[in-house]
Amino acid sequence: MGDLAFISEFPEQASWLEIHQAAFVHNIAVYRNAVDSNVLLGCVLKGNAYGHGFIQCLEIIHGYIDIIFVINPIDAFKVRKYEKENELSQKRIVVLGAISADEVVRCARKVIEVVIGDENWLQILHTLKRSEKDTGNAFRPLKAHIHIDTGLGREGFTTDKIAEKIGFLTKCTDLIHIQGVMSHFSNTEDVTEQAYAYEQLTAFDKAFAQIEKKLALPYPLERHIAQSAASFVLPKSRYEIMRVGIALYGLWPSIETKLSARVVLQELPKLIPVLTWKCMSQSIKQISEGSFIGYGCTYRADRNLRVALLPVGYYDGYPRLLSNKGYVLVNETRCRILGRVMMNHIIVDVTEATSDETSVVATLIGSNGKESISAENLADWSQTINYEIVTRIGSHLKRMVVD
Ligand SMILES: *Cc1c(COP(=O)(O)O)cnc(C)c1O
Repeated sequence: MGDLAFISEFPEQASWLEIHQAAFVHNIAVYRNAVDSNVLLGCVLKGNAYGHGFIQCLEIIHGYIDIIFVINPIDAFKVRKYEKENELSQKRIVVLGAISADEVVRCARKVIEVVIGDENWLQILHTLKRSEKDTGNAFRPLKAHIHIDTGLGREGFTTDKIAEKIGFLTKCTDLIHIQGVMSHFSNTEDVTEQAYAYEQLTAFDKAFAQIEKKLALPYPLERHIAQSAASFVLPKSRYEIMRVGIALYGLWPSIETKLSARVVLQELPKLIPVLTWKCMSQSIKQISEGSFIGYGCTYRADRNLRVALLPVGYYDGYPRLLSNKGYVLVNETRCRILGRVMMNHIIVDVTEATSDETSVVATLIGSNGKESISAENLADWSQTINYEIVTRIGSHLKRMVVD
């Protein structure tokens, strides 16, 4: 794999991530083929692309997907800049998250779509109106999606009297071009029976009909509510656009989703994890029986051991809950973490994995020969979900795109 050649670029021997382009493209193809080829595919790049690296992932997916969803307008501007520098055609971009009035003006100019989910937008509309006067003909109406809260209790207009609540949008059709209506599921990953999701879908359809009637636009509105889990297990929820995050990175939203997908799609699609996390050992040494390892003296060697010091710790996003619990892979062998995970270090037992003190490469997440450690494994061992494991991997670490 040329691991050692690559590390010479990193004299500080920090850990690094390999982002597998072919795996990403494969997962996109799974969506196009196994899930639905008639629905627009949006890729969610929030959270530093689920920890995989925003720019690295943007470069991989740009040619393959229909819409890019980001949380932050700054990321949307980065996409436009990337397109300009590389002379690429502009993809549709939707900013899902909070946005200031000034940013909204920039979004309108750069044809970046936004989401309207509360009445603070009245204020923002005033700013847009002023900027329209300033720029004269250059102004383009802001493309926007209406977010309705169908049961998550997060963003969006609640559905009672929805037509009244969004009435202000009928008064500014020169400023805003309503593109679609969206919502977000609350409980699809946690269950195999989707009663609550169906309630949300019913609320969505009902609110959509009311909005459509109120706005009375001469063109059809887009509907989108499905994230990874729902797009697999609730075909009805796919509508015109799917907003897919975790599954495109090759990770299942949950065991429950995986079980349900097998039933709904007949055949279980094969997702390939996009990310591998590795590091090179900082040093390897012998420890005698009876010695303690790490803060708090929580581990004591019950025999003579060979241990490797690895330059990765909770600062890098490696969970401290893996203390005395997690494993890494060295030379296709599972090596246990000894003692506590520290800020910048862990110590692992390499007695069986290597026979001398020459440096080794350790795999923290990924495969190594027949062995592999998944983000799900780390999540199970540290009482969280794969989403949190990958998004918390430090943005300071090197991410390199590999085939
Ligand atoms: C995070 C998010 C998604 C994607 O969710 P996944 O489970 O990762 O597919 C879609 N829509 C919204 C609004 C989100 O916040």
